Amino acid sequence: MSSENHRFSDYLLDPVPEKLWRHGRPIEGTRLGFCETCGFYHVDPYPGPEYLAEYYANYEMPTPQANLAETARLLARNLSVDASVVDMGCGDGGFLKELHALGFDKVTGFDQSPGLDRAKALGFGSFYRSNVWAYLDEAEQGAAKSYDAYVMVNVLEHVTEPMTILRRLHRVMKPGATLCVTVPNDFSKLQRAFLKVKGHLPWFVCLPDHVNYFDFDTLRHALGNAGFEVVDQSALYPLELFLLQDLDYIASPELGPVAHARRVEFENNMKQAGMMAELDHFYATLAAGGYGRDVMVVATRR
Ligand SMILES: [Zn+2]
Repeated sequence: MSSENHRFSDYLLDPVPEKLWRHGRPIEGTRLGFCETCGFYHVDPYPGPEYLAEYYANYEMPTPQANLAETARLLARNLSVDASVVDMGCGDGGFLKELHALGFDKVTGFDQSPGLDRAKALGFGSFYRSNVWAYLDEAEQGAAKSYDAYVMVNVLEHVTEPMTILRRLHRVMKPGATLCVTVPNDFSKLQRAFLKVKGHLPWFVCLPDHVNYFDFDTLRHALGNAGFEVVDQSALYPLELFLLQDLDYIASPELGPVAHARRVEFENNMKQAGMMAELDHFYATLAAGGYGRDVMVVATRR
């Protein structure tokens, strides 16, 4: 769809520097700005379908398992254990593995990445090759199953026209059904602070993978505009804290694993102390303030 359907203000990157096209051939003239129509930052224009199809044919960028475990715990505390759950863009099944470990049996996942073959070998649930658009086409014709809960872990930042997906999804979901969404928390306050101090390029801008850039507020508004109400939220550890404490894993990527290990150590120590409720409260508190590396929300279809 052309950018004529999107009204932009406040271009942050005009154009997006070549250096931020990390994984694909740069498309000249692409800008990144705040779209008044959609209510969040996205690229202008979106890459075309042929470009993206070619790019995603061999795409695999697994979400760290520790993140998936946190998202599974958030969803599990908002859902009955006998609920049917579909993970749209399940990759190698990493998220459903965590959810299954929490007692959920009726799990389904679809994806088009090479990881799907590993998901099929997990030995539980049902996995098949598809994508969100194909699922919506089938569901609108009454040819696809309706689930109690729908999951999109790190999907919405990748797709063109996410509002269309959310509105179509709303139409095929049962009233009261659950939607669990995670996206990176981008252009967040801590990231902005670090950008001001260090003057790096916005390192979290990653094309052509990420074409949309949300934070807690804009994701909540997007979901609200599509007919969903956020009922619970959490955040992932704000890794930017490390940057602001001079563990600059942007300038020195070898420090990335150090930061990751410290964050995992923090969570493990809280769990070992038997203080899961406090850990959840800590992250919910960060989420309420808009802090945290990823936005994680559970919403209900109105
Ligand atoms: Zn837009």
